[in-house]
Amino acid sequence: MDTEEKAARLADIKARMTRAAAGRPVRLLAVSKLKPASAIRELAAQGQTEFGENYVQEAQAKQAELADLPLTWHLIGPLQSNKCAAAAATFDWVQSVDREKIVPLLAQHRGNRPPLNVLIQVNIDDEASKSGCRPEAVSALAVSILRFPELRLRGLMAIPAPGDANTLGSAFRRMAGLFDSLRAQHASVDTLSMGMSDDFELAIAEGASLIRVGSALFGARISP
Ligand SMILES: *Cc1c(COP(=O)(O)O)cnc(C)c1O
Repeated sequence: MDTEEKAARLADIKARMTRAAAGRPVRLLAVSKLKPASAIRELAAQGQTEFGENYVQEAQAKQAELADLPLTWHLIGPLQSNKCAAAAATFDWVQSVDREKIVPLLAQHRGNRPPLNVLIQVNIDDEASKSGCRPEAVSALAVSILRFPELRLRGLMAIPAPGDANTLGSAFRRMAGLFDSLRAQHASVDTLSMGMSDDFELAIAEGASLIRVGSALFGARISP
């Protein structure tokens, strides 16, 4: 896909976001997993600043190549404890915090950098195969994140189970409910990350403030 095509796709997604948001601010995270640094550079030239990656090492290689650009990097893939040090040192946001154990590890390895922005990932449809904490566990996990000045609790992230507009809409609405109660308790909470290429307009209609779009921007991915 050439630069022009990418620019056209970005413009189309932005227009659809604006329509769905009806005046509310919504940010676009460009999900660049399995795409080369050159593709990120092309989108950055179009004004895109926030990029999402699933694998720590893959992200580090691209960050090194793109160090001349002022980009914001989000980790959106599952986080193993042995990757926390590298994640805390190289990302601006980690969206996949889903258990107590990794919270102090991220904090310890953040050092003197600005606080790491953290989202709690929720397994909103209670799927056995999915990362994310249970909805009931959000409050306690939030409190443990807030204990560390190296971390900044910004909100929630979810990947609902595949489904039709009704079941997806219901999952997004349940996330919005959890988000509203978390935000009422903690002043730093301002980000609800939900919605991907196939469902971002629905997610925005239900309250998403950050959508994560990969294939609709970069084209289909080939699995490694
Ligand atoms: C890959 C991925 C996306 C992007 O998915 P698309 O359907 O390509 O838009 C969003 N969020 C997460 C957590 C992902 O792993």
